[in-house]
Amino acid sequence: MFNLILFGPPGSGKGTQSERLISKYGLKHLSTGDLLRSEIAGQTPLGMAARSYMDKGQLVPDEVVIEMISSALDNNPQANGFLFDGFPRTNAQAEALDKLLTQKGTEIAIVLALQVSQKELVKRLLNRGLTSGRSDDVDEEIISARIAEYEMKTAAVADHYKKYDKVVYVKGEGTIDEIFDALSDEIDSRKTA
Ligand code: AMP
Repeated sequence: MFNLILFGPPGSGKGTQSERLISKYGLKHLSTGDLLRSEIAGQTPLGMAARSYMDKGQLVPDEVVIEMISSALDNNPQANGFLFDGFPRTNAQAEALDKLLTQKGTEIAIVLALQVSQKELVKRLLNRGLTSGRSDDVDEEIISARIAEYEMKTAAVADHYKKYDKVVYVKGEGTIDEIFDALSDEIDSRKTA
């Protein structure tokens, strides 16, 4: 099993790169944001509980997302590995994830963090805002706040994995292919290590 965490600020191209990575390495994509949105769509008790937090832009309580990830791991016993996206976002989540993976005899192999300059992110998001219809993509102040929030949270979780020498920063500027190749090189070097 090969498990990785992909970090990237809004506008870093994380979505595009996630799709390519899961297809190249046969990984199961686990995005807590997507899982929560589908719980809401299914009007489950978990979805209803999560919604009030998400509507306010707050983090859903750790125990809720941890339980959701635990079930997703149990429900995919055949997976070659997992690509975690949007999770873990807190130290408690990172510790819980390590524990769950240990119970399954596996671990996080690498944490890939896409790095894009603030100037480039703002440019990309304002550009996306012209067509995405997302209100949070049109205001430069909101964009900057989202980026700052990401930096703060990622730094905390990255510190957890730095203890185990698992964090690799990859430049998220250039063509999609160039970035994908850089991510693949890092994965390949850990796979054979
Ligand atoms: P995302 O699609 O990853 O931007 O997540 C959308 C929203 O879902 C976030 O603003 C949070 O409210 C919630 N969420 C997603 N992942 C997590 C997580 N790992 N921990 C807590 N809340 C989360």
